[in-house]
Amino acid sequence: MSETVLEARDVRRTFRVSAGFMKPKRPLHAVNGVDFSIKRGEVVGLVGESGCGKSTLAKMLLGLLPPTGGELLLEGRPISSLSRLEIAAKVQPIFQDPYSSLNPRKTIATIIALPLVVQGTPEDERRTRVAEIMELVGLPKRLAGNYPSQLSGGQRQRVAIARALINKPSIVVCDEPTSALDVSVQSQILNLLTDLRAEFGLTYLLISHNLAVVEHLADRVAVMYLGRIVEEAATKALYASARHPYSQVLLDSVLTPDPDLGVPDTHLGTAFPNPLDMPTGCAFHPRCPRAMPECATTAPTPLIDEAGRVECHLYGARAHRPASAEPAP
Ligand code: SF4
Repeated sequence: MSETVLEARDVRRTFRVSAGFMKPKRPLHAVNGVDFSIKRGEVVGLVGESGCGKSTLAKMLLGLLPPTGGELLLEGRPISSLSRLEIAAKVQPIFQDPYSSLNPRKTIATIIALPLVVQGTPEDERRTRVAEIMELVGLPKRLAGNYPSQLSGGQRQRVAIARALINKPSIVVCDEPTSALDVSVQSQILNLLTDLRAEFGLTYLLISHNLAVVEHLADRVAVMYLGRIVEEAATKALYASARHPYSQVLLDSVLTPDPDLGVPDTHLGTAFPNPLDMPTGCAFHPRCPRAMPECATTAPTPLIDEAGRVECHLYGARAHRPASAEPAP
């Protein structure tokens, strides 16, 4: 498991959006200098609040949106140099909502076979492979001629998974793959993704705001805040002792089933900032429980070490730890 499937180098995506009626357009830095990589067979979780840039990054990986800066490499080649067909053969999505991501006018067999049609696979082979993948994802053969409206939510998501996997892509981008499903069905879909990964050595980028889902599936987790990855570490290590204050707050905010523990206090002083008015220095400083004066003026330099990567003044060569702050691990 060493070959890099996907690599992001300082990837940026800026939109020009109106800040109000009759006001000039301003830049919105949805993805603001992201570096990360995914190796073959690895599952990387990407977590963060709504609006942090996760879905914009996913769209760029799927070739649906070009970066405005930096470089995205797919199996060593810049995505910008690949045709839509080449990208579709290597990267496939599983979207959040199986109710809207499947064409209601097409049969299940037609939907699943679509990636093969696009790649020009002969009809006989398509039929065989659709039957095989339906069996693999637990869809009975008798559903092949049905329409999405005749299926349950879990079955529709199995159709989406079958469609994503039928052409053996190099990487599957799972964008909130269970969040539109009933709780009882969520675990079935998660187990299916886990089993398929174990059987075929699949590579997933798992985008979710559900930290329990990410903990279940991912080998490594990247935490995103306002367009940047602020921490990246092995899943176990991050969940045991996150280093970045934002990761710590995210993990503290997870509800537990124990009623005695009540609703967690997330310690976030202010609301999620307006991305059009990006804070200076460390973008997290207006909400950070451990902010120091320099955090408002100076952006932290990333520290890359054996534990992963963290972007915070509390770590690294220039680490600054005021007396009131807990010592960094
Ligand atoms: Fe908090 Fe400062 Fe670290 Fe940003 S750099 S996360 S404000 S301590």
